[in-house]
Amino acid sequence: MEWLLVHKKLLEWYAQHGRKKLPWRTTEDPYHIYLSEVMLQQTQVKTVLERYYFPFLKKFPSLTALAHAELDEVLKMWEGLGYYTRAKNLHKTAKLTAPRLPNTYDELLKLPGIGKNTASAICAFAYKQERAVMEANVKRIICRLHAFKAPKEEVLIEIAHQMLDRKNPFDYNQAMMDIGSMVCTVRNPQCNLCPFSKNCKAYKENYFQYPEKKRKIVPTRKVNILVRHFNNKFYLQQREGRFLHGLWGFEEVDGIINDAEFLVDVEQKYTHFKLEAKVYLLQEEAYEDYFSLDEINQLALSGVDKKILGYL
Ligand code: SF4
Repeated sequence: MEWLLVHKKLLEWYAQHGRKKLPWRTTEDPYHIYLSEVMLQQTQVKTVLERYYFPFLKKFPSLTALAHAELDEVLKMWEGLGYYTRAKNLHKTAKLTAPRLPNTYDELLKLPGIGKNTASAICAFAYKQERAVMEANVKRIICRLHAFKAPKEEVLIEIAHQMLDRKNPFDYNQAMMDIGSMVCTVRNPQCNLCPFSKNCKAYKENYFQYPEKKRKIVPTRKVNILVRHFNNKFYLQQREGRFLHGLWGFEEVDGIINDAEFLVDVEQKYTHFKLEAKVYLLQEEAYEDYFSLDEINQLALSGVDKKILGYL
């Protein structure tokens, strides 16, 4: 492939269509860039932009402010984004590195929750280093260019490294991510708008199922949830196990409690399973540690508990 020509076309495409105004692209602050990378790992740009990025930075404007925060406060600002391990790792990393993230790939990789892609993105975007970012959109482009069905990670990294525009790593990486999410989409690639069309095997073959999708069978977990209440106050507990650790929620119980009244069926999808919950209400005696609805709104709740709250 003639990389100089491709780089030229890529930069032209980015200048015309790229999302250059995204707030994490107009800053060089490593913390802001790191935060956006972590939020965007499992969440769409629109959601991050409209609901999470700015409120989080308002509450924790610097790595130092984040390092000094309580985990509960951090989880509250993350509420609804899911994959809460991300928030906990962000908090741990802030404690380990404030006031500033390290500026080398190897040092970044040692930090909690920072993998190869996030480390590359911080190096390329905050420190303008020659690093190729390898998120899902970029992987899809490379697989289609080469008609790879299930390539090894090392092969993709090697190719991404060869493709990198070393003179413009920032714009190159941003352009690749934008083309992956706006042009070379999973279901409907717009090859006629793509700077790679002349070099792309998938386009030549008119076959876009690269890379092959692995079928995931997601098991269902059925639970009973009991909402104990008295006088418009409700009992919640803070989770201690690995799953949703640190978030507050209503009580999970083994069997159906006598006198409990059925409230609603609630479903929630998680990465590894689907949760189906039957929710019951139980009128109790007064307890000091019950929470009012206002107080509950201050706590960080999981998705399923948030849904239940909507029925109370
Ligand atoms: S030509 Fe089509 S399939 Fe190939 S990289 Fe571009 S958009 Fe994707």
